[in-house]
Amino acid sequence: RRRTGAVVNYAEDVHLREDVPCGCALCGTCANDAYVRAEGEGGHPVGTPLGADATHYLVPDADAIADHVDFLEMPRSAENVIVLGSEVRRVHARRDARLSRRIRNVHNDRRRSVRMFPNEHCAHTSVVAAARRSGGGAENIPNPTFSVFHDPVLRAAAWYAGKVRGAFPVVVLSETRAEILRGGGGGGAVGDAAGLGGLDKAGIAAEMRRRLPPGVEVLSASEYFPRFHAHDADAMGAFESWREAVETAASEGIEPGTSGSRKRAFPPHWDAEAVAAGLEDGDLIRGTIRVSARRPEEATVRIGKEGDGEGGDEDVDDG
Ligand SMILES: [Zn+2]
Repeated sequence: RRRTGAVVNYAEDVHLREDVPCGCALCGTCANDAYVRAEGEGGHPVGTPLGADATHYLVPDADAIADHVDFLEMPRSAENVIVLGSEVRRVHARRDARLSRRIRNVHNDRRRSVRMFPNEHCAHTSVVAAARRSGGGAENIPNPTFSVFHDPVLRAAAWYAGKVRGAFPVVVLSETRAEILRGGGGGGAVGDAAGLGGLDKAGIAAEMRRRLPPGVEVLSASEYFPRFHAHDADAMGAFESWREAVETAASEGIEPGTSGSRKRAFPPHWDAEAVAAGLEDGDLIRGTIRVSARRPEEATVRIGKEGDGEGGDEDVDDG
């Protein structure tokens, strides 16, 4: 039997596609209009939710999506937002059902100026494809690092910056990345992974700033909201609420958020051992994935090994 759900990234090296439309009105290369026609009947039109007359495009990382979901739910405030599949997957990994539902309702709403972009399935934005082109095998990819080749968020932002060609900035909203650029945060570990082990935090920050692709800006919420939403009371109200919660949490010595995952820029993926254990316990179910050509963010999973008709009774784990 079949179930439809989110595609996890184990499939990305096999199912990368060249023709995932970006949904950007300024783009001259994607078949955004053809995509609308192809999907118009019964499917979900994508078209160009990202406008040509924007002040900026916004690319929130997973923590920013979770932290600013109140803002993202405001259709008139949160415009020209690119929600990346890689980041949504990280949000779902928090196992906060209510949060996951709210995020889905935002990016599934075609009336919004939001493009859910399956960056892990697009050959131009997949960090796996980048590693392969640069000579390393997929198995040799280091932990995601602050570089356009290894960081899925920066890589996707750089791709969109290439689409808008300087008309306005593509803004990455990310506390952790903004902190590294300021010379703070986990610069040591990030520098090691990026091959910058010999540098101190200030040196790493300078090198990271140098590596930022043109047209991409990395901002914290405290930089972003006053700059782009100063005259939007709703957006500023959501931002102030978030800031107060962060400050209260800091004064009480606890990490804000539902899972404390703000401490980590990149939650770990499943490792082989955990997968084996999960299959053993029955927490995980083995299946065969088939990715939709028209909508690569959707796929069907056939439960059971190839060729045997048996299926389990539990849901596919799409975290
Ligand atoms: Zn495009």
